[in-house]
Amino acid sequence: MYKVVIVGAGVGGSYLSYLLSKKGLDNIIFDFRAPHEKLCGGGVSYKTVAKFPIIDELPCPRKVVWKSTFISPKDRMVKVEFEKPLIIFNRRDLDHSLLNMARESGAHFRKEKVHAFTLEGDYWRISTETGDYMAEILVGADGALSRTRRKLNVPYMKGDYFFSLQCFLNVQKDFVIYKFFPDLEGYLWSFPRVDCLAVGIASKYYGRKNYNDMKERLFHFIERYYPEQTKRISMRGAYIPFFSAKKLQDVPICSKNWALIGDAASFVEPISGEGIYYAIYSAEILARCILGNELTLFQQLCMKHFGKNLVKAGQIFDYFYQAEFLETMVTMAEKSKAIRKILSEMVAGNIDYLSLKGRFRKDFFKVLYDFISDSDLATKKERISHLVKLFTNYLKL
Ligand SMILES: Cc1cc2nc3c(=O)[nH]c(=O)nc-3n(C[C@H](O)[C@H](O)[C@H](O)COP(=O)(O)OP(=O)(O)OC[C@H]3O[C@@H](n4cnc5c(N)ncnc54)[C@H](O)[C@@H]3O)c2cc1C
Repeated sequence: MYKVVIVGAGVGGSYLSYLLSKKGLDNIIFDFRAPHEKLCGGGVSYKTVAKFPIIDELPCPRKVVWKSTFISPKDRMVKVEFEKPLIIFNRRDLDHSLLNMARESGAHFRKEKVHAFTLEGDYWRISTETGDYMAEILVGADGALSRTRRKLNVPYMKGDYFFSLQCFLNVQKDFVIYKFFPDLEGYLWSFPRVDCLAVGIASKYYGRKNYNDMKERLFHFIERYYPEQTKRISMRGAYIPFFSAKKLQDVPICSKNWALIGDAASFVEPISGEGIYYAIYSAEILARCILGNELTLFQQLCMKHFGKNLVKAGQIFDYFYQAEFLETMVTMAEKSKAIRKILSEMVAGNIDYLSLKGRFRKDFFKVLYDFISDSDLATKKERISHLVKLFTNYLKL
């Protein structure tokens, strides 16, 4: 009999297991393939290591990146240096270190798949291929397509996903690339790892037709920037949950004896697709709730600590991914330090979407000055009208 059973030893599950074990709470964690190279950019924002310094202290290799190139829908390029670095891990290394930390603190781990669970009185019976286990609290940390979530009857909604494709190239780089498209709600990334380059693309999911379209876009990017790599491409696909306001308000992610964390709870920032921070943060909140015997407060606390920012990001998603907005942001970044700062903060995960409007308002004249200062009269006029349109549209949101 265990106090807590955790399904999934990704970043969320292992971190939860570590926090519970450290406090002497008996828990068992199941994962049939952990640690594995989960499909992921592996980018860990500065916000994550600032809030959870233990992630930065993990004994595993990582690439620390300070530079980026943003490519607009019309292929304009701008280089942006970060104020805070982006830290990029191989997921196998990151997940392995976190799981080790949990095990060293006393967690039980079984490399097994959870096939089924049922509630028997006050206890969960969890079945794997090798046997049954009993526990008081069940935690679903089993990722974007969480079976635990489905079995607990927590619904997914239509259009609830991004679809993503990624491959690894045998290339060494020291900067990240973000490429936007005129007709895609998402972006393409190129993230340098310690031993390779992860190149991927993610877009809101509209069904099967996404697959070929995205594959082509990714292939063209590789062909253009790394032509010598086109023969060795092996793309893998995965879903990323799309967080929406409706989800956290209408859909339960906990009860008195179960909870969902990380991707299983759809905790991914919809504009950037950042999920590692939220998997770890939701694990930390859940650990506090379990240790304090306040499991039913978990959802409310997630909303309080980070949910509102995710909700806001979901609300401005459509606006953000308009070609005009992206084009103007990248164009303005060429000239404006204030806009480069916003982009750098977005990568660091430090953008507060709730106060972004106020920030735009405050920075308007600074951006305007940067943007038109070295232009001729005709360009100045064109840029001012562009900028005013962009800002007034944004302020209407
Ligand atoms: C292509 C792509 C790129 C991404 N890039 C980034 C990025 O750069 N930065 C970022 O912050 N986020 C990124 N994300 C999102 C990020 O990967 C996730 O948000 C994060 O991994 C969620 O962590 P988790 O612990 O909730 O789930 P996961 O890390 O997905 O872990 C779930 C675990 O559950 C296990 N499992 C599943 N079913 C069972 C079962 N029945 N029994 C036992 N075990 C089971 C799986 O094997 C897996 O190990 C990306 C996602 C994708 C798809």
